[in-house]
Amino acid sequence: MDTDKNGGYSNSRCPLCVRYVSVVNFLFAMKTVLTTSPDEAAAIIKRGGVVAFPTETVYGLGANIFDEKAVAKIFEAKRRPADNPLIAHISDISKIRTLATEVTENAEKFIQSFFPGPLTIVLAKSDAVPYIATAGLDTIGVRMPRFKLARRFIAACGVPVVAPSANLSGRPSPTTWQAVAEDLDGRIDCILQGDPTEIGLESTVVDCTGGTPLLLRQGAISLTQLQEVVPATKSYVPNSGEQPKSPGLRHKHYSPTAKVVILDDKCEISNLEVRSAYIGVNERGEQFQITRICRSAKEYASAVFEFFRECDRRGIKTIYCETVDETGIGSALMDRLRRAVES
Ligand code: AMP
Ligand code: MG
Repeated sequence: MDTDKNGGYSNSRCPLCVRYVSVVNFLFAMKTVLTTSPDEAAAIIKRGGVVAFPTETVYGLGANIFDEKAVAKIFEAKRRPADNPLIAHISDISKIRTLATEVTENAEKFIQSFFPGPLTIVLAKSDAVPYIATAGLDTIGVRMPRFKLARRFIAACGVPVVAPSANLSGRPSPTTWQAVAEDLDGRIDCILQGDPTEIGLESTVVDCTGGTPLLLRQGAISLTQLQEVVPATKSYVPNSGEQPKSPGLRHKHYSPTAKVVILDDKCEISNLEVRSAYIGVNERGEQFQITRICRSAKEYASAVFEFFRECDRRGIKTIYCETVDETGIGSALMDRLRRAVES
């Protein structure tokens, strides 16, 4: 018979303990509250809970940034690696001062041009921000979402809300509240139900801590748009052996269970298997089990993660994704497609 270090029964073997634990689990299994009220959702944040909420990019999974136990729940619920930092979401610009030691001149310019919107700026963090939120980094990403419901919710929380995307780690980011429920029902306290997201890809991330702003992650705000505001802005490329500035980009991301294949222009598909799907802006001659033709790269970007999820629900084995021009949102879309292929 198994005994634990203290000479008692180990829970996993003693039949009475097993029964007791499962009854307790059953009685106290977390129920995820669904609400359309930002005030009800904010009350849960104030009690130390975690709440998924809609933004214009993707749904986020939020907690009070100053409550370390609540922030830990985000990592647990998502099964997110502890070295992947979170973004602080604010409802008004003045709150940045509580999060960052300094708002640099370049950061100020980006804030004037793109807040509220799909841009995260990385600044040196203040002592008030716990390291669990930044995955041990001395910097913090800050964003002010454009969705009014997100801002009403954050304002009602009374504190900045730290949030990654509201999916299980590695899965495509959720663009509807139903996709959040698919991954996290029973694992989080609440879902604030809102509209499907508009953009459908995660925010652009730009590091403003040094003299030259560095684009760390592509998003709806393109490098060209950033350069129109600060011409010196560059894409970040880590030197070999250097610790990447955005550790999260190392991790597996955006991947459906199905295999993703990027189709270059006019490329023929050899051996098309029955359970395959296609998304793109141009029609193709082949017969796919699911086909999604989008009117533009913008629509393609907003649809792609939900399309991946739908393909998984329907047992699709291969998803063919058409290449788009790498301008505007097309760059961010191609970045996500390439990551989905890699993983
Ligand atoms: P998610 O919203 O789930 O895509 O996760 C947030 C992502 O933002 C991370 O994976 C990083 O790529 C990026 N990020 C957040 N905070 C920082 C930071 N302090 N420095 C660099 N990148 C960050
Ligand atoms: Mg994410």
